[in-house]
Amino acid sequence: MSDSDFGLDAIARWPAPTVEDYLRARREAEQAPPVVTALPMPDFVRGGIVRYRCLLDCGWFHDENPSAERAGPLLLPVDFTTEDLSAAITSAAEVRSKAYAMRVEQAIAAHFEEAHPGR
Ligand SMILES: [Zn+2]
Repeated sequence: MSDSDFGLDAIARWPAPTVEDYLRARREAEQAPPVVTALPMPDFVRGGIVRYRCLLDCGWFHDENPSAERAGPLLLPVDFTTEDLSAAITSAAEVRSKAYAMRVEQAIAAHFEEAHPGR
């Protein structure tokens, strides 16, 4: 086996993104429009925890810790450009945001089904 079997020679030819490229891509991802969901307004409690309380004030809550969430791998074409990098970061952020919203919505729905059936 040679290096080319693994595409290492191709990797060596990739244009290395600069720090400025990453920072610009991150800024663009942060400025992307937020995903619109029907999530209730959370409380922000100690330790970076985002707490969603039951809308019927029964004492139940669902906690999320966004800072503990790991970013997944970015999918990039072999000859990626800084635009591809930016798009991949934005796309990954949208996927995480949708997964977060879905997790919270499912937790709330499961709670209502169990504690407040028919509401
Ligand atoms: Zn409740």
